[in-house]
This record gives sequence, structure tokens and C-alpha cells, in this order.
Amino acid sequence: MNDPASPPAEGPPWRAATRAVVAGRPEPSADAPLSTPVVATSTYAAGGERGYGRYTNPTWEAFEDAVGSLEGATAVAYASGMAAVAAAVEVLLADAPPHGAVVVPADGYHASVDLLSRLSRPVRSVRLDDPAGVQAALDGAVLLWAESPTNPLLEVPDLSVLVAHAHQAGARIAVDTTAATPLRVRPAEHGADVVVHAATKYLSGHSDLLMGVAASRDPAVVTRLREVRSRSGAIPGTFEAWLALRGLRTLLVRLDRAEQSAQYLAACLAGHSSVQRVRYPGWGGLVSVQVHGGAARADAVTGATRLWVPATSFGGVESTLERRRRWPAERASVPESLIRLSVGLEDPDDLWQDLEQALTRTRPRGTAEPPSSAGG
Ligand SMILES: *Cc1c(COP(=O)(O)O)cnc(C)c1O
Repeated sequence: MNDPASPPAEGPPWRAATRAVVAGRPEPSADAPLSTPVVATSTYAAGGERGYGRYTNPTWEAFEDAVGSLEGATAVAYASGMAAVAAAVEVLLADAPPHGAVVVPADGYHASVDLLSRLSRPVRSVRLDDPAGVQAALDGAVLLWAESPTNPLLEVPDLSVLVAHAHQAGARIAVDTTAATPLRVRPAEHGADVVVHAATKYLSGHSDLLMGVAASRDPAVVTRLREVRSRSGAIPGTFEAWLALRGLRTLLVRLDRAEQSAQYLAACLAGHSSVQRVRYPGWGGLVSVQVHGGAARADAVTGATRLWVPATSFGGVESTLERRRRWPAERASVPESLIRLSVGLEDPDDLWQDLEQALTRTRPRGTAEPPSSAGG
């Protein structure tokens, strides 16, 4: 496909906001649609390169071109975030010795850690913000699975250090940057072997589909990522790919808006007497907050909002919140009272007004709450 994401040869590269809009568009020609349509087909007429619908699809490719141009790597789209995780794991372990260990984040995404724990390999759990601990765990390991930021504790590891430690130990490294998007963190620039996204979240951005992406700068890895997709059949639907690309066109304005509101809400929350701790990396649209009063109070708060929708997942236009430990599979290192907020595009004052009334209305009667401790 022609790539209008390439600026004139003599100019500087287009910036991210431009690439999000122009990458993956067909070359304009008279009366041609500006966007790649939903190409709904299971097969292609013989004589060309495409062959069959499980191998290629023009609508997936348009989406992949756009994500890849933001990520600085070649993107391969999958049926879900977990399909992308599974493919990345299979590809990165394909040539690894059978008993080499995998290193996982202590507060990593529970489904990814679960998948990595079922490989019949030793599993070592580490805190990614402890580089010495990571280095020690990598001795004899074959894969480091990383996330930035971690979810839901929202810690941001130093990716250059993690990549250096992994490669020094002879291990590969994959980084899941679902919660950051390629606008905030680009692991391929730090040398990560594979980058993974649940496109279900910010990339598509409207809570109306599941999709995943695995991306790499290594052509051999990209070939294998596509082979695994064709073999396993974990392909995205063409309509989902079209919707995801439609959402991706506005990623920059959505994320900027969510981030501004999240910064405002993080500051408001840190000053509220019902709040014990605010976790916010300083950027992005996710804020995790621990409230006084444990799980019961946190459940009461999530049940008392009118505008914020109690729901799992994140990265949609609507603001959602949930107590993560309501899920039995959530890691024990996540505090019982932790509520993860996914800040959407509503008016930030309405969002704060709703949170404040929920916190105030659920305050236990006649008890003075301890002063809030430092955020982070
Ligand atoms: C949601 C999520 C996934 C899984 O994506 P699905 O589309 O639900 O399969 C993987 N990693 C992270 C960090 C996620 O938040």
C-alpha cells in the first residue's frame, strides 16, 4: 500500500498528530473513498498475493500501518490483546531452551501473567522498578515480560535499563504499553524485541470492540508474528479493524483531553480527606486511588457514582471506575481499597463533582478520617 505517512523526502518526518491522521490511508485518486473500506471477504480471486482471508486483509493492513507509524515498528493486528500477548510469547520463546525461566512483573496484567505461568517453565516474579532485582531474576532466563505503566499500580519502569539487563542475560524482552499508548511510551525505541497493546483500550478508544497489536523492528520477528496469527486463526474481524482505525485517528486529542482531566482529578483526590493514596504517573488517563475504609468503603464509593460507570477495562470516551480486587484473579499486591479510574472525555468539573459526592456520601458516620498521605 502507498504510504502517505512519508513526508516529502527533503522535509522532516511528519509528527505523531499528523501520522495518526494520514498513515494507512489509500493514495487519493479521483472518486476513490478517502478511507480504506471494510473489506469483507473470506477469500481472494486466485493469481495474486493475498490468497485467503486468514492470511491478509486490506482493512487490517490500514490499521497496522497507522499503529506502526506511531510505534516506530511494524505492527501485526490480532483478535484481542490476549491473542497478541500469546503470539508474542510463542514467537519470543520459539528458539529458547525448554527450561529457561520467564520473568514477569509482580503487579503485571493478571491474564498475561496467568498465560506466562502455564508454559511449563520456571516463573520468576519481580518488581520492575527494582532493576537490581530484575537483573538477578534474569540469570538463566529466556524472556522478560514488562509493562509500562504497570496496571493497576501505574508504576513506570526505566525501559532502557530493563532492555539492557534482558539482552545482557541473553533473554528477549516484550513490553505491554496498553495503558500508555505509543504517544507516551515507545519501547521499540529503547530496543525492546516486541511491543504489545490491547487495542481494545485507548487505540480504538470507544469501548466497542476487542483487538490486539504486537509490533517489532525485527523483520524475522514480524514474519513469525504473522505466521502465528495465520496458524492460530487469532485474526481481527475486518469491521473491528475498521472501527479501531477510525478510533485511532482521534487518539491524540482523546488522550490529551483525558490526561488533562486526569491531572486535575489526581490533584483534587489527593486533597480529599477520604483518600489515603493517589497513584498517578503524571501523564495518561488512568488514576489509581486508595480510599480509607478498605474494600467495603471502596465498593460503596464505586456504587455511589452517578456519572462514572462501574465497569472493568479502560481507555474509552466514557469515564469508568472499579475496585480491582473485586476480581479473584487480581494480584494480592494490589491493595483491597484500590479503585482504578479511567478518565474519559466528560467535563472534568462534572467528573470531580460526582467523585466528591460519592466519597462524601459514603463516609462512615461520626468518624474522623486520618489525613491523606503523599501521592505518587
Ligand atoms: C486489557 C489488557 C490486555 C488484554 O486485552 P484484551 O483485548 O482484553 O484481550 C492486555 N494487557 C493489558 C495491559 C490490558 O490492559
